[in-house]
Amino acid sequence: MKTNTLFDNTEVAFALKNDSQLERAYFLFKMISHQPLVRIGTAATNFALKANLPVEGLIRSTVFDHFCGGVNEDDCLSVIDKMFTKGVSSVLDYSVEGKEEEATFDEARDKILKIVQFADEKEAMPIVVFKPTGFGRFYLYQKKGEGVPFSAEEQAEWDRIVARFDTVCRLAKEKDVEVLIDGEESWMQDAADDLCETMMQKYNTEKPIVYNTLQTYRWDRLEYLKGIHERAKAGGFKVGFKIVRGAYMEKERDRAEDKGYKSPICETKQETDDNFNTCMTYMLNNLDTISIFIGTHNEQSCYLAMDLMQQLGINKKDNNVWFGQLYGMSDHISFNLAKQGYNVAKYVPFGPVKDVMPYLIRRAEENTSVAGQTSRELNLLKQEKKRRKL
Ligand SMILES: Cc1cc2nc3c(=O)[nH]c(=O)nc-3n(C[C@H](O)[C@H](O)[C@H](O)COP(=O)(O)OP(=O)(O)OC[C@H]3O[C@@H](n4cnc5c(N)ncnc54)[C@H](O)[C@@H]3O)c2cc1C
Repeated sequence: MKTNTLFDNTEVAFALKNDSQLERAYFLFKMISHQPLVRIGTAATNFALKANLPVEGLIRSTVFDHFCGGVNEDDCLSVIDKMFTKGVSSVLDYSVEGKEEEATFDEARDKILKIVQFADEKEAMPIVVFKPTGFGRFYLYQKKGEGVPFSAEEQAEWDRIVARFDTVCRLAKEKDVEVLIDGEESWMQDAADDLCETMMQKYNTEKPIVYNTLQTYRWDRLEYLKGIHERAKAGGFKVGFKIVRGAYMEKERDRAEDKGYKSPICETKQETDDNFNTCMTYMLNNLDTISIFIGTHNEQSCYLAMDLMQQLGINKKDNNVWFGQLYGMSDHISFNLAKQGYNVAKYVPFGPVKDVMPYLIRRAEENTSVAGQTSRELNLLKQEKKRRKL
């Protein structure tokens, strides 16, 4: 166990929150720490939105404003500027999920292209992000990954997905803006991984522009990482990875059990933690060819990264190492790291309230199920309230 205490500084963590915002955050985390409340709240909200009941205002003033930057990119500007005064950058995350129509995929691509342009002009936004299933149907990725032949129509649809990836990565390279590609469920990820690697081969020739995601709750990822690293060295391209633990654990385990195959997920939390730290260590030791975006709210992994950077003589401002957290969570990590001079960016989700609901529900559920995380947020907020009173 590390004895570092950098993240205990709540004054730095919550410097951007006034007293009433602090109270609101406390109230929110208190609410979502109650599992039954989250379950009832989720069902009631879904019902109300489907029935067109006027609940958007309520959602906005509670969960939405805490976890999202706004309903569109312009809305997010004040959040982006405010965080940047403390050295924390933003990754605008267009969080509309679960759509399956071609028009929405094109819309998502255009949105990301606009954000790349926006990022080119704004120092506070050095990185952009998109989700593979934001650009094409989940089913198609799955079929491709399983090696099942496409019909002519499906092939044309797949070609459009590839073209969307390519258009975004090309503009990102032209504008020198890094692009993160999110990781999703393992049964669609093989096809996404191949596509990301193709983009890396094409656009990461001088420096890493394209970053895929390494989900280390999967026990096979270190081997995968070493494989792509070898191919990159042989092929003369750079590897970029956002490293995370992974967000779909229950779904992965349930499917594996249902279909009777070995679960791709580590058996214990400790195994996932070890895998994360081993993969991160491998990447930091190979920074000449691999760049890393460390996406985590885990304090020990962040302390380990800081220690390794010091041991390996990596400059805190080296553009090959970024730390990232989600907006509305773990400010004690983001703002204290930034204060120390590290590269830090927060994912700032945005989109129409109704369309962002799946993202918000995931955050609420995550904060309920990862019991430690909510009580940590609550304790930090409590400590800061106490500190301000004194
Ligand atoms: C900036 C950023 C970007 C992200 N992007 C993605 C993405 O593209 N794709 C994605 O899937 N997720 C993404 N996530 C979410 C991430 O995968 C985790 O779900 C979340 O960050 C919690 O993990 P943690 O590292 O913060 O820390 P912790 O709270 O220490 O770890 C919790 C995680 O450990 C794992 N875990 C928990 N219990 C067990 C167990 N019993 N056995 C095995 N493993 C266990 C799970 O992955 C769980 O989410 C992102 C997170 C951040 C901060």
